[in-house]
Amino acid sequence: MTDLQDAFSFPDEFDIAPVRLTVDLGALVDNWQEMARRSAPARAAAVVKADAYGLGIEDCGTALYEAGARDFFVAVMQEGMTLRSFAPDARIYVLSGIWPGQEANFYDHGLVPVLASEEQLAFWLSVTAEHGDHPCALQVDTGFNRLGLPLEDAIALADDVSRPASFSPVLVLSHLFSGDAPSSASNRAQLDAFLRLAQAFDGIELSLAASAGIFLGSEFHFDLTRPGIAVYGGRAVNDGENPMQPVARAEARILQIREAKQGETVSYGGTTTLARDSQLAIVAAGYADGYLRSLSGSGVPLRAAVEGGAYGFVAGRRVPVVGRVTMDLTIFDVTDIPSSEIRTGDYVELFGVNIPLDEAASCGGTIGYELLTSLGLRYERRYLYPEA
Ligand SMILES: *Cc1c(COP(=O)(O)O)cnc(C)c1O
Repeated sequence: MTDLQDAFSFPDEFDIAPVRLTVDLGALVDNWQEMARRSAPARAAAVVKADAYGLGIEDCGTALYEAGARDFFVAVMQEGMTLRSFAPDARIYVLSGIWPGQEANFYDHGLVPVLASEEQLAFWLSVTAEHGDHPCALQVDTGFNRLGLPLEDAIALADDVSRPASFSPVLVLSHLFSGDAPSSASNRAQLDAFLRLAQAFDGIELSLAASAGIFLGSEFHFDLTRPGIAVYGGRAVNDGENPMQPVARAEARILQIREAKQGETVSYGGTTTLARDSQLAIVAAGYADGYLRSLSGSGVPLRAAVEGGAYGFVAGRRVPVVGRVTMDLTIFDVTDIPSSEIRTGDYVELFGVNIPLDEAASCGGTIGYELLTSLGLRYERRYLYPEA
């Protein structure tokens, strides 16, 4: 580098960001391919709702598309319209279906509404009568009691010979409510219900399994699987090892290291009293960054559900959160790290490579899905691209 370049070089934003997020798109693609491999001969879709689980629909959607994904699920129309610009010929399913007034966008952007109620079905029939045929999907409830046409209504619809020819679902889907618990008898019950549907909708593609359902085995795979959390590195099944690679790493910078004496209290409410003279690292992330208040070391009613607060990782060691997490700041106990090994400006990993996403989440009484989709707007993001 010449002196001139040196004089005019600015630091990389990522290297100085108070909070930063690394998204490993290579790991994302590997995870999706692993889900596709486990799903075969069924096809694997990619679920990219909620801004690709908080990690960025543009970068994640593009990487998955380039890896070969051609079926995508989003929650709402707007997400589908965004995705369309970088997934030109993909099939994009909108899980919440369609509202009156959205027809033009569904047709123009080639989005497939997932119809889930009698009202949506009736509305869709009127839309296709007026605007011509357009693919739709049908969501059927097999025991979740969430979104979906009741099972018997769906079977009656399939058998209804007077059903207009314009009603042409390209996919019939249902969703497991305890797929994360492989021993739950409900999985078999939902599978049996879905098999009845499969018989009624003979010749139409079928989809039952999300990430967890893929791990339940091939009977659950049908034609198309819908992995979400596993692609983002999260835990899909409650027990045992999580075989997925971590994708997201959240880090926050140490703003200050302070000494505090035994007997003093820490953070709002003074709910932690120090048992020893301590070194505390004040870190630039809080609940506004999705580092949930329930991750606090103490003093939060939500925390009653779980034993300890969360841990961060810095200088090769795990360090516990002390006291309450606040909006923009969190305090970690770094007493056990020699002062020569830690200083202001260092980054503490909140979750990622050393602190698994799901471990951090469980310390806050929640799940990896919620931690990822709560990340907020302040992170400086860096995307690592898969090697060609
Ligand atoms: C969110 C969602 C998925 C993906 O679930 P994961 O557990 O993240 O794999 C699949 N299907 C439906 C209907 C969903 O709502």
